[in-house]
Amino acid sequence: MNSIDINLTTTPSSVDLSALDELVAAGVVHLAGTEAYDAARVAWNLAVDLRPAAVAVPSSADGVAAVIRAATTAGLRVAAMSTGHGSAPLAETAIDDLLLVRLSALTGVTVDGDARVARVLGGTIWEDVVAAAAPYGLTAMHGSAPDVGVVGYLLGGGLSFYGRKHGIAANSLTAVEVVTADGELVRATADEHADLFWAARGGCGGIGVVVAVELTLLPYAEVFAGMLLWDRERAPEVVATWAAWTRTVPDSVTTSLRVMSFPPLPELPPFLSGRDLVVIDGAVLEDDVTAAELLAPLRALTPEVDTFGRMPAAGLLAVHMDPPEPVPAVGEHALLGELDDEALAAFLSQVGPGTSAGLMLAELRHLGGALGRPAEDGGALSRIDGAYALLCIAMAPTPQAVVAGRAAAFSVVRAMARWSRVGLVPTFTEVRVDTSRFHDAEDWARLGRVRAAIDPRGTFSSGNGG
Ligand SMILES: Cc1cc2nc3c(=O)[nH]c(=O)nc-3n(C[C@H](O)[C@H](O)[C@H](O)COP(=O)(O)OP(=O)(O)OC[C@H]3O[C@@H](n4cnc5c(N)ncnc54)[C@H](O)[C@@H]3O)c2cc1C
Repeated sequence: MNSIDINLTTTPSSVDLSALDELVAAGVVHLAGTEAYDAARVAWNLAVDLRPAAVAVPSSADGVAAVIRAATTAGLRVAAMSTGHGSAPLAETAIDDLLLVRLSALTGVTVDGDARVARVLGGTIWEDVVAAAAPYGLTAMHGSAPDVGVVGYLLGGGLSFYGRKHGIAANSLTAVEVVTADGELVRATADEHADLFWAARGGCGGIGVVVAVELTLLPYAEVFAGMLLWDRERAPEVVATWAAWTRTVPDSVTTSLRVMSFPPLPELPPFLSGRDLVVIDGAVLEDDVTAAELLAPLRALTPEVDTFGRMPAAGLLAVHMDPPEPVPAVGEHALLGELDDEALAAFLSQVGPGTSAGLMLAELRHLGGALGRPAEDGGALSRIDGAYALLCIAMAPTPQAVVAGRAAAFSVVRAMARWSRVGLVPTFTEVRVDTSRFHDAEDWARLGRVRAAIDPRGTFSSGNGG
């Protein structure tokens, strides 16, 4: 075993898998002990070893509905998985009574350039949306990684490098199509099934399988974006300068600062391989002159690498250098308020020069701006009440590394406790948590009412999605 799972592989007596026979024969549902089951259950996060009672790979909304009906007849709960980027919380619960709906065969994007709207099927990843929007001079509110699933990201709100100017990505949704626990396909917009539409925008799931969404695209053919990189020895001045700078920049600037450690690997470029670094990256949604003026205080620190410049909007998917392939990883997160000198010293005492935290990265993502203001007619996650999101990630290829990585990541989170908020950013939360921490009390109560109405038996309550 090479995982953080505690799942059992035997199905409970309340489950009758014979209700799945027809779909098993049709090759849509796969049961344990088959190669297709093992292939379909693999999550992007390779530290997660999900062993549900069954895995389904439907290729249409009708197919999803048939799977959900059969699953509930069998006495199974249901969870969706697009990519498994965010599957770690699910692995922390027993899922021997759960059918996993893998959405890898339900992908595709169509763009209406005049209306600036993309229709995106439930298992699609962001790079496909960005590629489909680009010919129209448009882009979308994707996160840092090309291969994150659109729906999982939007259900959790979604932090984009467009975020401080344009807000939480979920609020770019204009429609969601959900197959509910009773196998019905429901289209929710601001006007129809408005409660469901509200819950889908940052409510973290627990409502059904989302088979399609429609979202408003952003009018950027090009963006000023990139990254700056220094040896970690420079971290004290870079961290201090960036933190002071983030307090002054306009909402058009969204950046991240990471202290990163790379193992010596031949597949890595020499400027990364075997090195400890401090990296700042993101987007400046301004003309070239203004962007250069805004970046001047960071560039004055003479970075070793500086890729900031105007690029096709799709280039923004690459500036964060997220892993191009699935990796085994564990992470911890905290939502932070303003960072004073003591806070920066606490951060550097964990990951600064001379330390060996055992992390691949410790990130501070700048929030605020439109991310901090309630969106007009926004969804269940309308704003984030924090100044920075802290995310600590460790590579975890073995069970020992899982334990050590979690301890290392938690050590940084604990060191920052004095500056932490009660709340959490859902998409940055890599462990099972009390999900009321994602929402304010009023929204949390409303979310409970919406979920109880649409999924009274709790068919979709699993992981951090219910
Ligand atoms: C390398 C990397 C970079 C990232 N960068 C960012 C970033 O910049 N900003 C940010 O906000 N987040 C970021 N994330 C976090 C990411 O947005 C979350 O992990 C997100 O939940 C992943 O969605 P997914 O669909 O790919 O993953 P999955 O693990 O497949 O799904 C995540 C959750 O969404 C649910 N879900 C997925 N698809 C459906 C569906 N069709 N219907 C119903 N429920 C569904 C799942 O049940 C699960 O609860 C990053 C993650 C990684 C690993």
